[in-house]
This record gives sequence, C-alpha cells and structure tokens, in this order.
Amino acid sequence: MLLQLHGRDLRPLTRARSGVPFIAQICTSVESAESRRGKQLLLLERAVDRLPSGFRGYLLRHAVDPGEHSDVYLIDQAFPYLDDGDIVRVEPERCALAVLYRARSAYNSMLVTERCDNYCIMCSQPPKQRADGWLVDELFEMIPLMAPDTPELGITGGEPALLGGQLPALVRCLATTLPQTAVHVLSNGRAFADEAFARALAAAQHPDLMLGIPLYGALPEHHDYIVQRRGAFDETIRGILNLKRHGVRVELRFVIHAETHAWLPPFARFVARNLVFVDHVALMGLELMGFARSNLDALWIDPIDYQHELVEAASILERARMFVSIYNHQLCVLDPRVHHLARRAISDWKNRYFEECDNCSVRTACGGFFASNSHRRSRGIAAVPDTQASKLQGA
Ligand code: SF4
Repeated sequence: MLLQLHGRDLRPLTRARSGVPFIAQICTSVESAESRRGKQLLLLERAVDRLPSGFRGYLLRHAVDPGEHSDVYLIDQAFPYLDDGDIVRVEPERCALAVLYRARSAYNSMLVTERCDNYCIMCSQPPKQRADGWLVDELFEMIPLMAPDTPELGITGGEPALLGGQLPALVRCLATTLPQTAVHVLSNGRAFADEAFARALAAAQHPDLMLGIPLYGALPEHHDYIVQRRGAFDETIRGILNLKRHGVRVELRFVIHAETHAWLPPFARFVARNLVFVDHVALMGLELMGFARSNLDALWIDPIDYQHELVEAASILERARMFVSIYNHQLCVLDPRVHHLARRAISDWKNRYFEECDNCSVRTACGGFFASNSHRRSRGIAAVPDTQASKLQGA
C-alpha cells in the first residue's frame, strides 16, 4: 500500500497565526515541556475538555472547542500513522499537511532541490528549473527536531550538488547534530569534477557519509545518452576520483532497463579495472515513475530477459572483491545465483506486494515492488513454494 505523505486534509477550526507554511514536530503528550511546545503540533487522538496552551498548533481526530488557540485543525482519520517525533509541514492557506520525516521509519529521504543539470531518460523525479532554496532552508530547520537515533537519512533531488556551498554546510550540520545517523547523498557526481568542491565536502568530516552516483556503461557516449548531457561521463568519472581522493565514500548506481541492460557486463569490467576502489555497486531495477513512465515502451524490459547479463556483471564485480547489491528485484524473478546480493531497498511508503505474494514462502526476504510498478510486471512473478524456499534463499 502506498502511504499517503501529503494531502489537503486539514479542516481549520480557528484562525491561522499566519498564512505562511511552517514546520513542526508531532507531539502526542499534553505534558510536553513548555520550552518545546513552540515547535510542536499537539496530536490528540481523543477529545479533551480544554486544549493546553503553548503549542505551535493542534491536530485533532475529534472536534473540540478550540478556545483562543490558533492553528487548530481537524484531521479526522487522515495520516493514521502519525506519531511522536514525526515532522510535518503545515500550509494553512491550502489546508495541506506534508509528512517530511517519520521518526520510526528507516526510510527518511529529504528532497533538497528539484533542479538538476542532467535530464535522464528514466528520471523518476523529473527536474524543475525554478528557485527552490526554501527546501534546504526548511531542512536546516528540521534537523534539530529529528531523533538522535535516526539510522539513516537520504539527501536527494534533483541534484543536491547544485546547492553549492550549502551542501557541505548541510553535511557538516548533520555531522554535528545527528552524528549517529548515516547520510546517503544521491548525486550525479559532476560537480565534484571541481576538486575544491570535493575537498569541501570531505572537510565536513561526516563519520558515515556515502555519495550514490549513477554511472551507465563503460563508454562516454552511452552514459551521456542516458543522462542527456554531452561530457557528463568525463565529469562524473573525475568527480568520483576526486571524492575518493579526499576520502569520501562512493557508491556506483546502474539502473537497468531496455537501453542499458546489454551494457551491464562491459560496465562491470570497466568498474573492476578502473574504479575497484569504490565502496559499493548497486545494480537497480527501474522505478516506473516520471520519465520512466512516459518513456515506458522504450525502456521496459522484463527482468527475466536480462538475468544472463545481470549474473555476468555481478560475478565480474564479485571476482574483483567488490561489494555488490541488487536492488528493486523480486526473488522469484532473480536468477538464484545472485539471490545473495538481493537487498530490500524500496522505501516502506512506496513498497507493495501482489496477490501472488500472499502464499509465497520467501516473502519476508523479498523486497517486493514499487507501488508505481503495478501496471507492468514480469511474467516470472509467482509464489515460491516451501519446497523451493531454502534452495532459493541459500543460493
Ligand atoms: S511472489 Fe514471492 S518472490 Fe515473487 S515478488 Fe512476491 S514475495 Fe517476492
């Protein structure tokens, strides 16, 4: 099931303090310390006689007298999963709420810009070239409200490196405020062709930082075609070299579709010969969103039909002793020889399973599907019977 993360579900019971959107942390306790209430939205599951004072706003499952308080909203049963520590954006004029961070989720990803200097043919979040500096300002405001034990935070775009000096500043802020939280930045890597920029990111001294950088194929013309930018391959390779030179960990990402699957083995040979020092290689199934959906007929290939290339690429990388993962593939479709590389990587809010999965013996180990991929599925999807489970999982 796709989790609803935003919607125009607020019914105001009183005036807003201002029409300007604001960030707040969900709190379910009327006993919350008064010093914290100014940044908190009190979520009340049950009716009360009187609303306590001092909160930035109030979300009510049942209508009560709002008294003199501002920003009191009825949300009925919308966003049923909201809980202590979650962070939301309230837009009073649109009566809208967006859930930006879930304290109990391992899958928190922060969009810092929609701008990008690539234009990938399968981009799941097509770029928008408009000023959106408020997104990163908002993130700086949110970080002190996040739980110190947040396991991992994704930084995504667009292209986060287009933030310029704000990206190292953001990473430094995360290192200082949430030192136990792993940070994974999705970047096309091109901006790090400027060695000073790579050095600045390294100087943020984050203890657990990884840059996830897509690379498509071993030939510049292949990569440049996929990202629709001449010269991108050279810049990306120089970016990877500079990041590694300054000690920043790098993950290579290869999204597999009809235009790229044949390049898997040469890509793996190129990486094993020239980039063996990268920290992780992720071979990824296609998410049918954005341009991937509009270019679907050109990009779709049943994953069953590229298992040969996938197995060959994985084996080249493993023989080079590289750390390899396969993301976004279902176990019943994957060749058993690469089952040990399959990881559950689809964010919980957009992950689903189909009816075939109900009686499947490997469901708990299987990553399932993107909710957006419902309309195009492999012909190989089929429940794995008990008798085959140990063979498949142990392969
Ligand atoms: S049938 Fe089993 S292996 Fe196939 S997608 Fe569903 S849970 Fe995964």
